[in-house]
Amino acid sequence: ERGDERAGRIPRYVRVNTNVWTVDAAIAHFEGAGFTRIFTPDVLPEPTQFSVDPHIPHLLSFNPSTPFAASPLLAEGKIIMQDKASCFPAYILVPPASFGSGSGPMRVVDATAAPGNKTTALSALMGNKGQVTAFERDSKRFKTLQTMLKKARCGNVVPLNKDFLAVDPDDKIFEGVTHILLDPSCSGSGIVNRMDYLLEAGEEETAVDQARLLKLESFQLKMIKHAMKIKSATRITYSTCSIHKEENEFVVFDALRSEEAAAAGFTLAPRSDVLPAWPRRGLSDGTGLTEDHADSLVRCVPGEDRTNGFFVACFVKVSAASNQHE
Ligand code: SAM
Repeated sequence: ERGDERAGRIPRYVRVNTNVWTVDAAIAHFEGAGFTRIFTPDVLPEPTQFSVDPHIPHLLSFNPSTPFAASPLLAEGKIIMQDKASCFPAYILVPPASFGSGSGPMRVVDATAAPGNKTTALSALMGNKGQVTAFERDSKRFKTLQTMLKKARCGNVVPLNKDFLAVDPDDKIFEGVTHILLDPSCSGSGIVNRMDYLLEAGEEETAVDQARLLKLESFQLKMIKHAMKIKSATRITYSTCSIHKEENEFVVFDALRSEEAAAAGFTLAPRSDVLPAWPRRGLSDGTGLTEDHADSLVRCVPGEDRTNGFFVACFVKVSAASNQHE
């Protein structure tokens, strides 16, 4: 089956940027513009219909033919075109939305930020408060990130044109950082729509061979281990837009067995804490992961799940997890 055919079954997703707009205002706007809201999320909306996503608040879905490219809502930063699966990591991370008790702003890191889909989502989920430090090592992509942050009116994001791996985990940049979103470059093998490929995957190549997967796998693992060394970190999401277990379950398996995870006490958050209503979970067969661990991972299969192919894992510090209800 060709990618374009699968893309035709994926709704056009529109994330309402709550830094600028509200979901209620967006619903009223689209109804006023002649669209009918439907309440059957499993049905692909007709060209004059839309629905509110059942898993991700602030997300609307339209027919893939709906023309948004020239919409002034985009230029005004009221909406962001973002695939549903790409909304999962920020939502699963649950970045802190309120201020801490006197010890400065709540702090979050986006380690691999450009073009900024997930950074802007973090910013909005935090109510445009606290602070998101957004790393992007590529200078051209960093400019795209800056433009997007401005458009989305993210007052709580500090973008840095820096390599996340080059900053010491004990550096004061990371002081008080509790939540980290890690969405490193991947093969992009889950992306159905070629237009999205370059921006979302963060990689220039498109051919996926075993040698390249191995290289990506070791880079991705390095990024997770680096994040785990940040002492104040209690919750880390790891995501890819890849369908390959080499970049997903294998990386999670190695991360769980790493010295860094043992030293800091990181394990996987249970399914109940990781989008439990999403039915498709990680793979245990041939990955070394236990069924419980695989069940705590989120997977998306392109076309079948009305999203691009995607993967999310959420690591939590055991001591922090058991302290949560004190
Ligand atoms: N999270 C982004 C979004 O949702 O819009 C997509 C990120 S893309 C998959 C990965 C990005 O990480 C690329 O822009 C790449 O240049 C950047 N990157 C890769 N390695 C990095 C590193 N060591 N430090 C900072 N950024 C890095």
